[in-house]
Amino acid sequence: MKAAFFKEHGGAEKLLYDDYRDPVAEAGEVVVRVKACALNQVDMLLLDGRFPPPEGLPHVNGCEVAGTVETMGAGVKGLGAGQRVVIFPGFACGACEYCLRGERTVCVRYGYLGAHKDGGYAERVKVPAANVVPLSDTISFEAAAAVPLAMLTSWHALVTQAAVRPGQTVLVQAAGSGVGSAAIQIARLCGARVIATVGSDDKIEFARGLGAEHVVNYRTQDFVEAVKAWTGKRGVDVVIEHIGGETFERSVYALTRLGTLVTIGSHDTHWGRLDLRHVYSKNLRVIGTNLGLLHEFRTMLEHIADGRLRPVIDRTYPLSEARAAVQYVVERRNKGKVLVLPA
Ligand SMILES: [Zn+2]
Repeated sequence: MKAAFFKEHGGAEKLLYDDYRDPVAEAGEVVVRVKACALNQVDMLLLDGRFPPPEGLPHVNGCEVAGTVETMGAGVKGLGAGQRVVIFPGFACGACEYCLRGERTVCVRYGYLGAHKDGGYAERVKVPAANVVPLSDTISFEAAAAVPLAMLTSWHALVTQAAVRPGQTVLVQAAGSGVGSAAIQIARLCGARVIATVGSDDKIEFARGLGAEHVVNYRTQDFVEAVKAWTGKRGVDVVIEHIGGETFERSVYALTRLGTLVTIGSHDTHWGRLDLRHVYSKNLRVIGTNLGLLHEFRTMLEHIADGRLRPVIDRTYPLSEARAAVQYVVERRNKGKVLVLPA
């Protein structure tokens, strides 16, 4: 099959579009024909080596995949060839202490599609049958591919971890990203009011259109001051942070007392300073989270099918132009998700 893979770390130029080994479904596994695969920031970490693929190189990125069932290994039940599906990207062992506690996202053997296994920048991808979720005819492959990582992570962060309630205020960092564009909508669905940051003025209307009440260009305005002005000096109840560095450090200053900072990524840097005085004197909570749970994924798909949540697609590229797609995301030009589509 054709795939966009890399044999050494670096920038978009390291991606090769060429023949790649065909996935074969073993017992309990399904091979899915990829119809759409979304790019994610983690792809960039895998590609440039900040997060090297655990199984080594060559590697195929792509953790957000929708497609159709092609072949099934022995023992797979409840699925049929040609069926429309979307892949839940997380792999958990189901047997460790954390899985047994129901906290599968911190399984000691946790992994996800496109990182710990070859992913969806390919014509076909192999996954455990347990990760294959039937897809409603009312949701396009493109929309479905925008859900698995970015939207699910935002959902888990806001709904499960921060337990956002009606009337609360939420600061969403980087509204142009997949995570940010999802977080605005989910916070609104929870009944919260949203202030969002963007890195360029052309994303201001975009963020407003998703439901942000106030939008700040963080390159030209101080977002902490903007939050203070918007909340009458109070600060917000929740911050969704996925940038790291100074953005992380300053996000704490935007919180009100008893506020919650949820960190769900480190797209600029893995490091961030924390002013501990603010944390203890205001009784703040700093929560880390990654991905979400299968039942949350199914719940989100229902909201999408019914039109209450809308995956935001910026643009699509043919899989053969994966380099250009990656470069577009590396340059942060996207408003929402960027997809690659196999021919
Ligand atoms: Zn486990």
